Amino acid sequence: MEEEEGGEDYLFKIVVIGDSAVGKSNLLSRFARDEFDHNSKATIGVEFQTQVLELDGKEVKAQVWDTAGQERFRAVTSAYYRGAVGALVVYDITRITTFESIKRWLDELNTHCDTAVAKMLVGNKSDLEHIRQVSVEEAKTLAEEEGLFFIETSALDSTNVNKSFEIVIREIYNKVS
Ligand code: GDP
Ligand code: MG
Repeated sequence: MEEEEGGEDYLFKIVVIGDSAVGKSNLLSRFARDEFDHNSKATIGVEFQTQVLELDGKEVKAQVWDTAGQERFRAVTSAYYRGAVGALVVYDITRITTFESIKRWLDELNTHCDTAVAKMLVGNKSDLEHIRQVSVEEAKTLAEEEGLFFIETSALDSTNVNKSFEIVIREIYNKVS
């Protein structure tokens, strides 16, 4: 019974940040449960979801935190960031304003977390290519400047969602193992 929880070899806290409605909650539900929600619900009420991966024969538990809508009020608390070793910093490729907010999110992340946090810049909603406002090139440039990994995802059609989390988790794992 006691082995049901906490039996993993590693536990990594990962935060998902970015402007409201960029798809953070859906990236998380796609990764953790392979589900997508067409109606944006303000709050799911769940602080985090976990997903277990196996890396090099070790059990790695990713504990991925969702803001649950706090970002709407610019009130993401320091408790949210506490202990995070990885971060997905998300924008919506169809809304340039969400891309312009990335630097602010990185500043906030750096204020609360060690600079060694593994960071992935995520351009979500890649299925909406016809209304794209942020080019791959400008996102790559920002990622290089800021020392971030970069990927485009679609929580809707599942493109690169697992991959985005796995790259971050692998990076963290490589640092600690
Ligand atoms: P959050 O506020 O950042 O947590 O964003 P949500 O996950 O609640 O998503 C906001 C809205 O965008 C919802 O209507 C989702 O259905 C939609 N959405 C999320 N991800 C995608 C995606 O990859 N593609 C498309 N087309 N819509 C998405
Ligand atoms: Mg949300």
